[in-house]
Amino acid sequence: APLVFSGMQPTGSLHLGNYLGAMVNWIEMQKTHSCIYCVVDLHAITVWQEPAELRHAIRQVTATYIAAGLDPKKSILFNQSQVSAHAELAWIFNCVARLGWLNRMTQFKEKAGKDREQASVGLYAYPNLMAADILAYRATHVPVGEDQKQHLELARDIAQKFNNDFNKEIVAAGFEDGIFFPLPEPVITGPATRVMSLRDGTKKMSKSDPSDLSRINMTDDADTIAKKIQKAKTDPEPLPSDEEGFEGRPEAENLVGIYAALSGQPVADVLKEYGGQQFSSFKKALAEVATEKVGRIGAEAAKLMGDPAEIDRILADGSARARAVTEPVMAKVKDIVGFIRS
Ligand code: ATP
Ligand code: MG
Repeated sequence: APLVFSGMQPTGSLHLGNYLGAMVNWIEMQKTHSCIYCVVDLHAITVWQEPAELRHAIRQVTATYIAAGLDPKKSILFNQSQVSAHAELAWIFNCVARLGWLNRMTQFKEKAGKDREQASVGLYAYPNLMAADILAYRATHVPVGEDQKQHLELARDIAQKFNNDFNKEIVAAGFEDGIFFPLPEPVITGPATRVMSLRDGTKKMSKSDPSDLSRINMTDDADTIAKKIQKAKTDPEPLPSDEEGFEGRPEAENLVGIYAALSGQPVADVLKEYGGQQFSSFKKALAEVATEKVGRIGAEAAKLMGDPAEIDRILADGSARARAVTEPVMAKVKDIVGFIRS
């Protein structure tokens, strides 16, 4: 049966890119699929996190998930470190994945920067943990933003190599087609699979960007949103009247794309309305739609944050349900690999 898994890192508060690129699909898929949504705290520490801030961010991300429409009764909602299968299976995958595969990962190159010798080993092995996150549940569908496509391909390669390396044991364990791990499919759809930074239209919007002006956080208030959009980088030309006019204008394309996604209109329709106008009037309209959406979710999340014990209880409940799914999978994995267990 199809099973959905996805996660976000508590490296800060969620932003419009996380929402439009991934979470909109997460919410939608709850209607048709069994879904498991994770706050991936093990991934977060691949880059140094202040412990008190990490603890706060785990709760804040959870509150934002729920405020945006994830139902913790329907879906499994939990934080990764409470389910040991993630780390255990990641170790096995560290021994399945090849150095050459990881060397090609562009996210590592971007995040490690110039001083690669100083990057954590965890940041390098991150894609193996991500494969474990998905495959510990033998999940089949993974709704993510465009930037995670390469990691998903690696997860498929790992699943395939595991199935091949242990074919004899897998068949003997009763999987006659030799497929123990399904090859997980990326679900990269929707109006904004790659939202760009407000300061640089060639860089994706990220939690870890040092400039808070580069993103609209789901926790920002109306004044902050208006200020960030007003300061967003643009070029001096008026808005183009069709999509060809975005050529060489990544900031214009990004802002119009965000407006279209938030207002549920095709980009062409937005350009019909605003084409030829100056950015100043368009930015006012954009601030309005952004405030409407983000403000509602942010206010609801803030209310939930008033009761941290209740958030921890939700995470504990989700973790118990997650463990119940991973335990039989991990028992089989250990048998297949040749470990002894009691
Ligand atoms: P970090 O900078 O810490 O990596 P992030 O902003 O990239 O944070 P993640 O937690 O790594 O966020 O990603 C969570 C989900 O949001 C993933 O599915 C990812 O593909 C998606 N996502 C992240 N940034 C964007 C973006 N700018 N546009 C669309 N989707 C995005
Ligand atoms: Mg990221």
